[in-house]
Amino acid sequence: MGHSKTGVAMRYYSENWYEATEKFIRSAIDFGNLKWCVSPNSYYDIPYVKIGDGANQLVINSGIHGIEGYFGSAAQLMFLNEIAPKISDTFLQDYTITIIHVINGWGMQNRMRETRDKDGGLVDLNRNFGIDFSKPENLPTNPLYHLSHDLLLSAPDPIRKKNAIKAFRSSHLHDGAWSAISWGQYDYPHGLFYGGASQTDENKMTMAIYDEIMHGANKKSLVSVGLHTGLGRFNRRDKYVTGQLLVSHPSWHQNTQFFKSVCNDTEIVPDESAVFGPTLLGDLVDCLESRYGRTDCPVYTADFEIGTGEFPIMSPVFKRMDMGDARYDLLHFGKINPTTRANLTESWYPSDNGWRDAALNRARVLFSELISNLHVRD
Ligand SMILES: [Zn+2]
Repeated sequence: MGHSKTGVAMRYYSENWYEATEKFIRSAIDFGNLKWCVSPNSYYDIPYVKIGDGANQLVINSGIHGIEGYFGSAAQLMFLNEIAPKISDTFLQDYTITIIHVINGWGMQNRMRETRDKDGGLVDLNRNFGIDFSKPENLPTNPLYHLSHDLLLSAPDPIRKKNAIKAFRSSHLHDGAWSAISWGQYDYPHGLFYGGASQTDENKMTMAIYDEIMHGANKKSLVSVGLHTGLGRFNRRDKYVTGQLLVSHPSWHQNTQFFKSVCNDTEIVPDESAVFGPTLLGDLVDCLESRYGRTDCPVYTADFEIGTGEFPIMSPVFKRMDMGDARYDLLHFGKINPTTRANLTESWYPSDNGWRDAALNRARVLFSELISNLHVRD
C-alpha cells in the first residue's frame, strides 16, 4: 500500500516546465477559471486558476526559485486533484482561492534559482519585488555582503574552497556577515542573491496577477503562501522532511499570530530580527503586505519551506559554494560544470522518492489546515 501511495504522489511531479504546465492546465481547467498572464518578452507565461467567489483571497504560488524544481508544482497539482474537489460551497462563498503556477519558468526549465536580466546577470526574483529601481541611489544596500563576495566567486575547489567558506561561516556567524549573503544585494550582477537593476518580467507578471486578484473595493483579506524548498532538514534514511512556514515577522506580529492560529501541525518560524523592517530585501511577501495591506483588508503572507539539508551545518556551506561555483563557471566558461549543476539540483530538489513523497505529505497538512481553519475563523 505504501508503494501504490508513493506511485500516486510521484505522478504529480514533472521533469520539465512544459510537462508541469500541461498537467496544471489539465487539472485546473476542471474548475473553469483558468487564466494566463502573458509576457511579451518571455516564453514562460504564467497560468493561474481561480476557485470560488468569496471576498477573502487565498493565494498559493509556486516556482519563484527554479532550482527548487517541481515540488511546488506537484503540491499545487495535488491540491487541485485531492483537496479542491472536497472544499465546501460555503467556504467558496467566503474565499476565492487562486493557484499561481510557476512564476519563474525560465529558472525552472534551466535549473537555476534565478532568472536572467538583459545583461546576463542572474536575478533572484525574491529579491526583486517592491524595490524602487528608478535611481541607483534609492537601491537598498547590504555592505556586509561585500565581505564574502570574492570568496564565494573564487575558482571551484571542493576542499580548499569548502574549508574557506566553512571558516568564513564560523568567524561571521554572529556578526551578521554570514546571514547577509542571502539578504539580497544590488551591486554584483553575478553575485549571490542579486536583486537586479530593474523590475523583471516575472515580477511584473506576478504583480499583474495579484493586482487582478485584489482589484475592486470588496476585498476583505489576502492570505498568500509561496511554495519553496531548501531551508530545513531532510533525513534520507527515515524519509523525514521538515515543513516550515516562514512568516518573516517577529513572534508578536499579527502576521505571525494569524498563521499560529490557523496552523496547528505546521511549524511556524518567526523572524525575531525583523522588528523595524524586513530582513530580506525585495521579497514577495513583504511587497504584498505593503502593496495591499489596509486596516479594512489585512494581508497575511508566508513562505512554506520544505527541508532538504541532510547535514544541517554543512548544507548552507555547500549551497553557497555551489551557487558561487556556478557563477564562476558561467563567467569563465559560459556554462555550468555538470558536477556543480548536479550538486545544485540535488541540494534544493532531492531526487530521492522518499523526499518527494514526504514533501507532498507536508504540503497536504498545510493545505488542509488552511482550508479547515480559515473557514472556522468566519
Ligand atoms: Zn525559494
